[in-house]
Amino acid sequence: MAHSLFSRATAVLAIVFVSSTVVPAAVFAETLVVYSARNEQLIKPVFDAYTRETGVEVQFTTADAAVLIERLAAEGRNSPADVLMTVDAGELWNAAERGLLQPVKSEVLERNVPAHLRDPGDRWFGLSMRARTIAYSPKRVDSATLGTYEALAAPAWKGRLCLRTSKKVYNQSLVATLIAAQGEAATERIVRGWVANLATDVFANDTQLLEAIAAGQCDVGIVNTYYYGRIVKDRPDFPVRLFWANQGAGGVHVNISGAGIAKHSRRTAAATRFLEWLSGSSAQAHFAAVNMEFPVNPAAAVDPLVKSWGSFEPSLINVAEAGRLQPAAVRLMDRAGYR
Ligand code: FE
Repeated sequence: MAHSLFSRATAVLAIVFVSSTVVPAAVFAETLVVYSARNEQLIKPVFDAYTRETGVEVQFTTADAAVLIERLAAEGRNSPADVLMTVDAGELWNAAERGLLQPVKSEVLERNVPAHLRDPGDRWFGLSMRARTIAYSPKRVDSATLGTYEALAAPAWKGRLCLRTSKKVYNQSLVATLIAAQGEAATERIVRGWVANLATDVFANDTQLLEAIAAGQCDVGIVNTYYYGRIVKDRPDFPVRLFWANQGAGGVHVNISGAGIAKHSRRTAAATRFLEWLSGSSAQAHFAAVNMEFPVNPAAAVDPLVKSWGSFEPSLINVAEAGRLQPAAVRLMDRAGYR
């Protein structure tokens, strides 16, 4: 299995090489293979732009991060992958811990990606920042009564809170960073408070949760802002607002979509140039805007709709903590009865 994948990758390269001797203008100077947990519709436009600019072809496979990580591990040194992309720092942390990524020394990446959004060991780098914050009904909630994630555990929110399932890595990362900031005992009290305040069963996704607030099923919830962006893009009068959590109190919980270079990539120089390009201000603006996320590079333009939600102070806890403390977060949520 692993051997046949290797042969296929070699065959692709061989064809590119042979063709290039015949029709140089029509072929790619180089090929990179990306394993991506980020959806095709969110990466293909950016990869196409890279090919137009550099002549490098980007081949990609999309699947859940866990599937891609298992595949990388099973393929070992025969893997055709050069780059792994995921939509959560915890997944990149896992891949790095399993020895599936190699460190990259790049001044460009160090300059473009803030330190809290990349691996302290240089094995992965954030490429877009996603904020997980409070959403609320402006009809039923005075925003002056909102403040922190922690405060949603207070009795005032009994029967008014909606949450997405604890099985989703986004919530595991949120709880992991709460543990990093406040310790396990305090975090468990918060999560128990959330569970006690639930208006209804947990939701499978953030979009359903936002629709539940709009429908009056609950008054507040916690979501990634791009799901809100997808809705309000089509329905500007959608009756839900965002509130930046924990301002002056540790900052909004942020995560990343990001990438690292596969341990057994044979094209590390080309893969490094690719990641550097992705971290540059023009690619950043595009990469973030296709999913209404935030660029990691502070020099990049923010999508106008995203910008309209106002600026906020993000948590500066390194997103690697989301990976390190994820097992503890999963156990804690289980103990607290958060399904
Ligand atoms: Fe998502």
